[in-house]
Amino acid sequence: MNLRCQSCGAELVVEAELRTTVCPYCAAPSVVERPPSVDSPAPTFALGFSLTHQAAGERVRAWARSRHPWTHSGLKRAPLEIIRGVYVPAWLYSARAESEYTASIGEDYKETETYTTTENGKTVTKTRTVTKTEWRSLAGAHAEYVPDVLVTASRGLPNVELAAIEPFDLRALARYAPALVAGWVSEEPSLSREACLTLAREEAQALVARRLAAFMPGDSHRELRFRTRLEAESLDVCLVPVWVLAVRYAPQAPPLRVVVNGQTGVVHGKPPVSWVKVALTVLAVLALGVGAYFFLGGRS
Ligand SMILES: [Zn+2]
Repeated sequence: MNLRCQSCGAELVVEAELRTTVCPYCAAPSVVERPPSVDSPAPTFALGFSLTHQAAGERVRAWARSRHPWTHSGLKRAPLEIIRGVYVPAWLYSARAESEYTASIGEDYKETETYTTTENGKTVTKTRTVTKTEWRSLAGAHAEYVPDVLVTASRGLPNVELAAIEPFDLRALARYAPALVAGWVSEEPSLSREACLTLAREEAQALVARRLAAFMPGDSHRELRFRTRLEAESLDVCLVPVWVLAVRYAPQAPPLRVVVNGQTGVVHGKPPVSWVKVALTVLAVLALGVGAYFFLGGRS
């Protein structure tokens, strides 16, 4: 059965008995049946859940307890049964990165210098060792393989939230078969391939930048500039296991969402602040201030 969330745009696939009227990603009660998609790319790989529903619930509880005291109590109260396991679509990207770079490489050396100072009213000359840096310019080419960049293909789960619970253990990657996701909610890629490819290339470029910086010789470097071509790109749809707790307090307010890596148990959620608690605290502090004013004023 194919469903669409009219709020976040997730394109869900569930078995008839798992039919839901509430979106597992955003808790919006606006899930409608949709026709089967014709052009959605089929998954190539899938990673199975290894964290149980109960274990995921315990991780979320521990996470909520460890948050700020202003954490929305609704999150602490949320029944853990509403945590849903979702096979989230992601793109698995790899490429060969060919970079040309220029940089200024610093080599440190020690030098002894003399200086004068005043001791017991007399001017004395002393020596000390200082570190200085000599800069030379360097240009070169660097090629490397960038494997396993994972970016979301879901409208329901933004890439920053997926990145926050990465990494997944891709050694457990299996070729996709419908039986793997039977009994679970899954989603079809709902973001365009082009949008995801842009995300993946940005992540690959950022990775190359970090590796190039680490590759630079010398004691330090500055003005590292490079141009990278990504060649032999490969891109496959991969379903990844995520436990999602989504709660909506008010129809207009955005949902609170906590996501748990279905393999490793890593938890991510924005610290949901209760503005009521913040306001009460501010009022209490103000009241103390006013009380102190009148107390001291009354005595003078
Ligand atoms: Zn939704």
